[in-house]
Amino acid sequence: MNRVFNFGAGPAMLPTAVMEKAQQEFLNFNGMGASVIEISHRSKEFDAIINQADELLIELANIPKNYKILYVHGGAQMQFSAIPMNLMSRLPCRKAAYIESGNFAKLANKEASRYGIVDIVGTSEATNYDRIPAFDSSELADDYSYFHITSNNTIYGTRFQQFPDMGNIPLVADMTSEFLSRSLNIEKFGVIFAGLQKNLGPPGLALVIIREDLLEHASPETPSLLNYKTYAEKHSLANTNNTFAIYMMKLVLEWLKEQGGVSALESQNEAKADLLYKLIDQSGFYQGTAQTEHRSTMNVTFNLENNDLVSKFVDQALDQGLYALKGHRNVGGIRASIYNAMPIAGCEALAQFMREFERRNG
Ligand SMILES: *Cc1c(COP(=O)(O)O)cnc(C)c1O
Repeated sequence: MNRVFNFGAGPAMLPTAVMEKAQQEFLNFNGMGASVIEISHRSKEFDAIINQADELLIELANIPKNYKILYVHGGAQMQFSAIPMNLMSRLPCRKAAYIESGNFAKLANKEASRYGIVDIVGTSEATNYDRIPAFDSSELADDYSYFHITSNNTIYGTRFQQFPDMGNIPLVADMTSEFLSRSLNIEKFGVIFAGLQKNLGPPGLALVIIREDLLEHASPETPSLLNYKTYAEKHSLANTNNTFAIYMMKLVLEWLKEQGGVSALESQNEAKADLLYKLIDQSGFYQGTAQTEHRSTMNVTFNLENNDLVSKFVDQALDQGLYALKGHRNVGGIRASIYNAMPIAGCEALAQFMREFERRNG
């Protein structure tokens, strides 16, 4: 069986070595004669898995001691509710600031507005989110419970190149489509969250990294299984967690470490993205849809002259084993998602296909 190069935005490809390891030990984990998904979340074997996942995250992302690592049910969008429930009452005024840099950012601020006042302090909606909106953090009010950004905009192919300094206002970042793809100073953030299914593992679960002092502000009506404090106190095992997702993430983290860690992956991610952006910039045939200085290294978006060409591109690419290149309906065109697991060979194969497609159709 031939595996494709999978450019899907999420659930996305995982490293082949990780899939093989999971397959190899699926029926018989650790000599137990049972699968990892058949054993108790309270067994010592699973305890070892979750502890190893924590340790690998601390090492790979350089997470300081005053931060907690949580594995929270419900994927990334559940955090759009959990964040305001846990943080909006940090000050009496129940007010948060949001940067609207894309569709997920918009969903996040809409959800938060059910719990308090949301100020959208920057939006790039008018230009169909082709950039990170400009905003001046020094002109912001200082009575916000938190400040929310989407660090990488999966649909539009943009990212924050730098992160704002918010002083005493906790910076909350949805990093679903880029966590562990670039080096970060975790101390700049109050909360980082990421659905696993883009860069870290299977769907349905979110990784949440939260500064300890922020665990104390949940509104009283917060469901206990959305209260970050419950997760912190029970090591994310207040009830049965998604043990398989945590196990798969642990394998991905081990793989990441073998590759040389985040800085090694970051250089490789830049090289992969460069390969495609250079080609787009040199061609009059492909048009990048994100502003050059805001481009993502994870999601490369571009358009062609018309929809017929787009469909033809997607179909012919698939014939070459290049899968799931159709852009999101909000942007149209093509999107190549090239997360950590995409080898450089995948980007080279795509670039070669793009050159040939241009030659035949340009
Ligand atoms: C994919 C994605 C989401 C949605 O994740 P779910 O787990 O489906 O809720 C949220 N934010 C960003 C930035 C994403 O890329």
